[in-house]
Amino acid sequence: MKLLEHIQKHVATANPVLPTIAHNSPLIQHIIATNPSLPEIASTSMYEYVYGSNGTFVRAKRQGLTAIAPVSYYKAKGLRAISTSVQMTYPAVPVMLVEQMLEASRIACDTNNRPVEIVFHVYFENGNWQLAIPEQEQTASSCKPLDNSANSTYGKAIIEIHSHHGMRAYFSETDNRDETGFRIYGVLGEIFSNPQIRMRVGIYGHFYETATTGILELPAQLTDCLAEDW
Ligand SMILES: [Zn+2]
Repeated sequence: MKLLEHIQKHVATANPVLPTIAHNSPLIQHIIATNPSLPEIASTSMYEYVYGSNGTFVRAKRQGLTAIAPVSYYKAKGLRAISTSVQMTYPAVPVMLVEQMLEASRIACDTNNRPVEIVFHVYFENGNWQLAIPEQEQTASSCKPLDNSANSTYGKAIIEIHSHHGMRAYFSETDNRDETGFRIYGVLGEIFSNPQIRMRVGIYGHFYETATTGILELPAQLTDCLAEDW
């Protein structure tokens, strides 16, 4: 798709039928990267689309986490190239907490003793990483916290990890539907035989897989799928 068409599809002025208020929403900003340096993410933006010479990207910022992820790739002359990045300003989550998640995943089961999924919320508070196992609905193929309000551990989580127990660590269609916030998402897989983790940053429905380096301290028994993919 040509850049102009692409921008027309995404900027607020594309559809004259929509009410004006939708056009001017400050929550989603659009930046055409004509200058050598990008402006800071506006504090009023929920997220911003950035149009560069190498594609469209989406970026967002919250306390402790800044990320820019690709939306679609193309070539457009006259703009600057955009680089992806995932920057967490906190130290990596200590290995002890990662081991606790793996252990709790292994014992998560239903009343018939069959393994179920489990979700963890990891957030930074009082100078330390905190691991929460929220109250949740759990089945063999899903897990969902009961409370997703702003003050819940869901609302505070910078990292959200769930387990696929015996299945591979991949992001399913269900995960894509559920993981609509801005944070780092992880999935644990094959936890009984070949423990593995895959991570991605999610920016309101846009996803970009990222290595665990600098985000989690991995125990020796846990493999980063992205490191293996490379
Ligand atoms: Zn999943």
